[in-house]
Amino acid sequence: MKIGRYYITDKDKTSYCVVKGESLSEIKSGAFGKVKMGLRGKYHADKAMPLAPVEPSKIVLVGLNYKDHAKELGMPLPSEPVIFLKPPTAIIGPRQNISYPPYVTRLDYEAELALVIGKKARSVKEDDARDYILGYTCLNDVTARCLQKKDIQWTRAKSFDTFCPVGPFIETDIDPSNLRIKLYLNGKVRQSSCTSNLIFPVEKLISFISGIMTLLPGDVIATGTPAGVGPMQVGDTVKVEIEGIGSLINKVTD
Ligand code: MG
Repeated sequence: MKIGRYYITDKDKTSYCVVKGESLSEIKSGAFGKVKMGLRGKYHADKAMPLAPVEPSKIVLVGLNYKDHAKELGMPLPSEPVIFLKPPTAIIGPRQNISYPPYVTRLDYEAELALVIGKKARSVKEDDARDYILGYTCLNDVTARCLQKKDIQWTRAKSFDTFCPVGPFIETDIDPSNLRIKLYLNGKVRQSSCTSNLIFPVEKLISFISGIMTLLPGDVIATGTPAGVGPMQVGDTVKVEIEGIGSLINKVTD
């Protein structure tokens, strides 16, 4: 099942919907509780504007987590995940613009598989971790690389408004362990890998992170980016594509 969040133009309201082709079935009880379909309304996709499919209390991201990226950087594999946060205010949806901040000299894309938490998770065991996942989506961990290098903390480099494109849907019925992930910049492939290259798989990440902070329904965990990270310029179009989920497309503007 694909779950999206939409602004329904002729009703002037925002709703979570189950997506089947061009048909949107409004979810009655919220995407993160028990999903009841079609009880409030059905809409055609041309009457709706797609929004980011999440409204998290927090976005937790993982640093170096692909074997190919570690090899590319000549870095040893980490012994435990390195995590950081982005604020929810950084989120934008499909087709919304990434703003290039005026004093940034290098702005990078990072294609990532993100998972969305379905129920409150605290100190979850790896064996139980999948029970806490609602589904999966695409995320671009936009990074002001120049500021990441300059600052000791990563917060400024990762947290500008628009630095967290997410979408287009949450796919609930997919095995995350072996999905092709690609990033296209102006139509050319820049990153191409597979989630089988993850150093720490999603179960380990949920167990590790939920042992530190309580994860709430709708919270997002981004699982790290593969090899091939590089810069974007004003005017570029960037697309994160993950097998079985879809494509997240955004443009860079000043
Ligand atoms: Mg990243």
